[in-house]
Amino acid sequence: MDTIFEYTRNEIEDMLSSGGYKKFSATQLFGWIYKKKTFDFLLMTNLSKDLREFLNSAFSMEFPVIDKKEISKDSTVKYLYSLKDNSKVEAVLMHHSYGNSICVSSQVGCNMGCAFCASGLKKKTRNLRAAEMVSMILQTEREENEKITHVVIMGTGEPLDNLDEVLKFINIINDPYGLEIGIRHITLSTSGIVPAIYKLSEKNIPINLAISLHAPTDELRTRIMPINKAYPLRDLIKAASDYFDVTGRRITFEYLLLKGINDSLLMADKLADIIRGLNAYVNLIPYNPVKEFKFEASDEKSVMAFYSRLKERGINVTLRKRMGDDISAACGQLRSTVKS
Ligand code: SF4
Repeated sequence: MDTIFEYTRNEIEDMLSSGGYKKFSATQLFGWIYKKKTFDFLLMTNLSKDLREFLNSAFSMEFPVIDKKEISKDSTVKYLYSLKDNSKVEAVLMHHSYGNSICVSSQVGCNMGCAFCASGLKKKTRNLRAAEMVSMILQTEREENEKITHVVIMGTGEPLDNLDEVLKFINIINDPYGLEIGIRHITLSTSGIVPAIYKLSEKNIPINLAISLHAPTDELRTRIMPINKAYPLRDLIKAASDYFDVTGRRITFEYLLLKGINDSLLMADKLADIIRGLNAYVNLIPYNPVKEFKFEASDEKSVMAFYSRLKERGINVTLRKRMGDDISAACGQLRSTVKS
């Protein structure tokens, strides 16, 4: 049986009208599921009895099972979700002063092979479906009894390697009759698949695009992010600039600070050189250790020196707050399987 979470409101409208039902019922159905959190078709009293019975016989509402839940000292919550085929994916809920954000995965495993990332330790076995991403949000809201206001597609997987399902997911969670998560509250993070960035900009949906840059030279970037071999920096920076021209959305460049690797002032200058003039900002991320890798976090002095140099060079720069690192829920620490 098909899960109803797989469908956009437009798709449900088409389905209903071809079955002889009123199109408007799709909006009512969305309201029941995503606003009133009613997960039983038969209880949707403003739908006709006939429609309720049809929905009940044709669709399911599938939720992932919570295999494990860990709560960090800063109140970040990490979930290990088990999907229908027993695939495991993680999601992280973060509490901020401006709302609650969830970091969701887009694939089971990841093929991008970034040298510092635990998520890439397990190769991709499959893409996540839109319904699976949607149901992780619903399940988390249900579990916490809290409303999720922001979504970052930054967990395990490369979202632009699963673009169709990710776009569908964005459509469903942004729907004003559904979860109504503002389009500007949705961030997609990519390792830099250049043709897919262009494909995304053609859609002209003003989500935030975050590009994992992590190195300002091709030599270093290829060493720590193999994707750079296929799409070198010059092409990536051009794609970022074109994305801004089309969508008007400022790009975020994520930059993980790795001790002795990419955290020198020379690297800060090179970084300033390659992004100079772009409508973008740099988000410096403290590295979160992963036991399989030899990388270390930059010390505070180097972090602050790097930050100040970018500022002096006129670059907009922020320093990301560490969240959930005590439960391995921070950036680059998510996995598709549980390891002790
Ligand atoms: S950083 Fe992102 S793209 Fe790179 S291996 Fe990890 S999950 Fe994949």
